[in-house]
Amino acid sequence: MNLPRLTNTLTRQVEPLAPLAPPKVGLYTCGPTVYARVHIGNLRTFLAYDLVARTLRARGADVVHVMNVTDVDDRTLDEARRRGVPLREVTDRHLAEFLADLDALRVVRPAVMPRATEHIPDMVALVRSLEARGHTYEADGSVYFRIATLPGYGKLSRLPTSGLKAGARVSHDHYSKEEARDFVLWKAWTPDDGDVAWDAPFGRGRPGWHLECSAMSRHYLGETLDVHMGGVDLVFPHHENEIAQSEGATGKPFVRHFVHTGFVNLEAVKMSKSLGNVRTLDAVRTLGLAPEDFRYWALSVRYRDPIVFSEEGLVAAARARADLVALRKRLREATGEGTGPGTSAAAAARSRLDEALDDDLNVSAALAALHELKTEMNRLLGRGELARADADAAEAAFAHADGIFGCFAVPGEEATPADVSALVLERETARKRRDFAASDRIRKDLAARGWAVEDTPAGPKVRRAGR
Ligand SMILES: [Zn+2]
Repeated sequence: MNLPRLTNTLTRQVEPLAPLAPPKVGLYTCGPTVYARVHIGNLRTFLAYDLVARTLRARGADVVHVMNVTDVDDRTLDEARRRGVPLREVTDRHLAEFLADLDALRVVRPAVMPRATEHIPDMVALVRSLEARGHTYEADGSVYFRIATLPGYGKLSRLPTSGLKAGARVSHDHYSKEEARDFVLWKAWTPDDGDVAWDAPFGRGRPGWHLECSAMSRHYLGETLDVHMGGVDLVFPHHENEIAQSEGATGKPFVRHFVHTGFVNLEAVKMSKSLGNVRTLDAVRTLGLAPEDFRYWALSVRYRDPIVFSEEGLVAAARARADLVALRKRLREATGEGTGPGTSAAAAARSRLDEALDDDLNVSAALAALHELKTEMNRLLGRGELARADADAAEAAFAHADGIFGCFAVPGEEATPADVSALVLERETARKRRDFAASDRIRKDLAARGWAVEDTPAGPKVRRAGR
């Protein structure tokens, strides 16, 4: 199994992914805090998660993707209080909006999306094991993590050890690198929390934000995660504190590969709710563009590089995507016999695309390979020289690319739902590693969902069963 190389924030190096038990890859991604509609900066991160998951599946990995939903923390509680409604009303509403945005963007939903409030016992147990290992202390009814007890604290964000304030503590979920100090694991109940509180051996209260991810990732994926992803703004303090909690409790490495995504900027300023410059997916629709245009735009820049949001950029992305989709449709006109230069051009484009993705998801090079294939196919079609077999080979290359990028479906035709495409890809990779039991199981799963898959020389074709 040839897995792509990705930048590992732990080492600052581009390294091949090395899961503990291949072909399984445990992927944990920090999900939304459901206190507001997610903005396009967040969506860019969720699309990067999807690109990684789809690329891994295309390489034959059995990806188990877990994404948490933060439905209790400082921000969700502040929002409920501000609106004067129960916490659950705020979080249910924004979770539903979030899922609708993911579906519109053809994101394959993670296998599990646990809500923090459903895993409080796991969090209490984690605090108990940190207590037993001497990493905690209580103050004013809250439990804190004493960072001086963990010599490696700060290794992810590379905090200067001299900057650490031993003994000082912070009870907010969000704080800056300059304020690195003991952080809260469990917050004592205050009247501001209303009826949001749980009983624990160390007192009534609620979990700190960082604790949620350590507890839920361990519950679903074990003590060591193959890949952990999040936005670059989570490196400190969130991921640093996750490492402290998880490694403090188990004594084992928490994450093998930490992958971080870059910001979306508006005129070179980071988009954030606190700055009041947020745009949501509705801003894309207002321009008359489709969510897939945004998807193409967001995926056309390498995940770790910052990207500047502009209408011109989105419109250019929409045009580039439309050109690819139009060619894909036009390929059906080809009637020539035999095979010509198109077949080798398609094979070359496909391997260039795969090689580019292997190189730390070099999407610019991957998309360039597709656009060059498009130009060559248009040239051959214009001369009436494209053989049917060549067109099939090119179509297979575009279908492969669509399985990964998820935005090259021909409109007007029933687009294959993202989860069905993911299963087809999974079955194809199972077949490649001659795991026919798995391939058969996936075929039955597809049939149960009403889809039939047919294997052709140009690759698998999927259609509605019974048509
Ligand atoms: Zn997290």
